[in-house]
Amino acid sequence: MHAITRSGWIEVISGSMFSGKTEELLRRLRRSEIADQSVAVYKPAIDDRYGETTIGTHTGREWDAVVVDNEGDGPRDILDHHDGESVVAIDEANFFSNTLVEVAQSLANGGSRVIVSGTDQTFRGEPFEPLPQLMAVAEYVDKLQAICSQCGEPAARNQRLIEGEPAHVDDPTILVGAEESYEARCRDCHTLLTGERPESHRNAAQD
Ligand SMILES: [Zn+2]
Repeated sequence: MHAITRSGWIEVISGSMFSGKTEELLRRLRRSEIADQSVAVYKPAIDDRYGETTIGTHTGREWDAVVVDNEGDGPRDILDHHDGESVVAIDEANFFSNTLVEVAQSLANGGSRVIVSGTDQTFRGEPFEPLPQLMAVAEYVDKLQAICSQCGEPAARNQRLIEGEPAHVDDPTILVGAEESYEARCRDCHTLLTGERPESHRNAAQD
């Protein structure tokens, strides 16, 4: 008789901003904690909205997280840090390089349940790597809907606003430290500036 070695799997929680992705991630982690499963949580170094060592939601709930370099080979640090936890959660996955895909695969192959949360569309409404690849290789995908801030219909898009104005189509995908805000919007209400890029955007978005 051989011992049965079960592989793990990948779950993706995606959707627009304000769709409750992190809330859903934390809900799943709490269930694991109740079952006494070991849990490790990672988040990208780029996101310091809730401090360096926690993930949180807009409602203020938090979970301890390890901050990982999100660029280039940085996500491999998750493998170095991995200590056999049965559940590995990765929040804000859209800020990670595509290396996250092989990291998630490696963890799942090694027997971990990998839960990845992140938005799947850029502010332009285009696929936001690495989420599309993660969704393709995952066993389970949940795409959550927000509510459109303009019309109240289900919203799947991220409306970026810079100083209250829609972002320009040529603005960079990831802005750090810019005066920007986001709303969830439906396909009809989502807008992008085109034509000449306003001076204010060039100041706010140095790429
Ligand atoms: Zn709408």
